[in-house]
Amino acid sequence: MDEILAAARPVDWSKLGERTLCDACLGRLFGKLGHGHTNEERGAAVRAAATLRTGPCWVCSGLTSRYDALARLVAKKLELWEFDTFLIGSKVDPEVQGREESLWSDLALANQEALKSEINREVGKRVCDLVKKEPSLANPDILAIVDTSFDHVDLHVNPLFLRARYRKLVRGIPQTRWPCNRCRGKGCAKCGGTGKMYPTSVEEILATEIMRESGGTGHALHGMGREDIDARMLGSGRPFVLEIKEPRKRHLDLAGARDRVNASGQVEVDAFLPATRADVVAVKSDRADKTYRVLVRFASPVDEAKLKEEMTILEAQPIAQRTPTRVVHRRADTTRHRSIKRAELLSTDGTVAELRVTAEAGSYVKELVHGDQGRTKPSLADQLGVACEVLELDVVEIHDER
Ligand SMILES: [Zn+2]
Ligand SMILES: [Zn+2]
Repeated sequence: MDEILAAARPVDWSKLGERTLCDACLGRLFGKLGHGHTNEERGAAVRAAATLRTGPCWVCSGLTSRYDALARLVAKKLELWEFDTFLIGSKVDPEVQGREESLWSDLALANQEALKSEINREVGKRVCDLVKKEPSLANPDILAIVDTSFDHVDLHVNPLFLRARYRKLVRGIPQTRWPCNRCRGKGCAKCGGTGKMYPTSVEEILATEIMRESGGTGHALHGMGREDIDARMLGSGRPFVLEIKEPRKRHLDLAGARDRVNASGQVEVDAFLPATRADVVAVKSDRADKTYRVLVRFASPVDEAKLKEEMTILEAQPIAQRTPTRVVHRRADTTRHRSIKRAELLSTDGTVAELRVTAEAGSYVKELVHGDQGRTKPSLADQLGVACEVLELDVVEIHDER
């Protein structure tokens, strides 16, 4: 307390004039000095030393005596939610803030704390005691904003993130919900009122179970890339983060949810694990190579030795790919350069061949095979001098670091 009293001694208290302050507002003027004291304790000591009179507080009008009540308000609001960590924020009347700032300059102070910061800390401590949960600055489950002018609490419930890898066992379902292209999701005759182009998606199959458990208001699937709708996703699966918005519950029966997803027969997951927003960034930025299984039909028979030779040639050179015809309506028409890490022939009967191709992230594998009317160069069709049709495509491995 000595440090605080030493700082208070040279202050010209006559500058206060008729204004009186509560202990907390007085102590907060020295809030950055002396550890282990509340501002109220600091203020009481300064008042005694400087013989300052008491009276209604000119700065806060009694707000600092209402922290218990505000904390109860927050705790009441939090009752409906399951969470582990929280953070208190506050809105303070700009006039109150203006008054405290004018006091700082009138008294020429240097170690004051702002009222807002005191509110956040003091209400936070009390909420912590009431709800028996920990505050978290970096990553709270729930942020409670206390509006001190209206005694109103707004909750910002942060999403729940879960990560896993999915396998898509069937063709014909998109990774994420695909809104109907006629009604854009409202529901029309074309989509049978569903608002969707496809009855389900990997996202919906995964999210349905977690939504049921968590009571969230919405969801998003963040995948490490995506496979075509008609491609399966096999091997050890594709990493993703599932985001559940405003979950009521965060401690879920994840094994049960996994089992129910796996019972769908369409999509499988390995195990849902807790994740954070940082995992979303990581999964979105990964540039992993991928291995594909391609079933291709030749317009006329191709000799096995010739096929093997041309595939070896494809491996050796960079591939220039203009945005494929099938996606150019929704993506910029540019040219990307990718390399084929490995191209192997698994089997062939002369007109149909099964290939295994490992390509750099972002490669268009169907186009690598059929050439897309010269937009991908070189292509297998070009090399062979025979038109190629992709019958089936599967992603069989994603070579990520996760
Ligand atoms: Zn006050
Ligand atoms: Zn529609």
